[in-house]
Amino acid sequence: MKRNVDLNEITDGRFYGLNDLVRADCRDCVGCSKCCREMVDTIILDPLDSFRLTRALSCSFDELLSRKEIELNVVDGIILPNLKPQEDDRRCPFLNDTGRCSIHAARPGFCRMFPLGRYYSDRSFSYILQTRECPKVRSKIRVSKWIDTPELQRNQKFVGDWHYYLEDLSVRLDKSAQETQRQVQLFLLHSFYRTAYSAAEEAQFYEEFEERLNRARSLLV
Ligand code: SF4
Ligand code: SF4
Repeated sequence: MKRNVDLNEITDGRFYGLNDLVRADCRDCVGCSKCCREMVDTIILDPLDSFRLTRALSCSFDELLSRKEIELNVVDGIILPNLKPQEDDRRCPFLNDTGRCSIHAARPGFCRMFPLGRYYSDRSFSYILQTRECPKVRSKIRVSKWIDTPELQRNQKFVGDWHYYLEDLSVRLDKSAQETQRQVQLFLLHSFYRTAYSAAEEAQFYEEFEERLNRARSLLV
């Protein structure tokens, strides 16, 4: 999602790599679930998030939609899923009654890195520390440890590939007829989300994702 903001206003002004120490460790969020109540509809799900959720909950992407745990919205001209805030109190559907994440091991990438965010530039990206989002005093932790992501190198490649694929597509769709836009949006949703991944592990997911991405790239030339 593109954001027109002054980085100096929302971050500490630094860019972080995986090996850098960053003041992000909130020590297990004890007693706080603010971001799981207030920012839920900004948690956009990428194909890996969809894979993790459907695997952990033993359900399909369409079932997540029909159970109102996720919803679809248009982001930069492309239909993408996000976590759906609950109707009564806007909390995340996976926040349990004790204020904890009920799908911790399968939580989306956005939740894993918060309050870090990603800054994309020159076909690559780095991490930024959003200083206004979390009220807790935080201690230093290495970025790679904080984002708690297996297969880290493959994951970083996936994150960049997916982001720049969407960015390129968004630019091209902007110049396309409405019917073309609609067909491409539905194709994307079907190819990367609604069609279940057969992978059992994340390592296999990345292989399957790359196959789908290559196919999508060739079909949408
Ligand atoms: S606002 Fe900060 S401390 Fe509170 S739940 Fe979110 S990350 Fe944890
Ligand atoms: S998935 Fe878990 S960590 Fe993410 S917003 Fe929901 S409850 Fe919070």
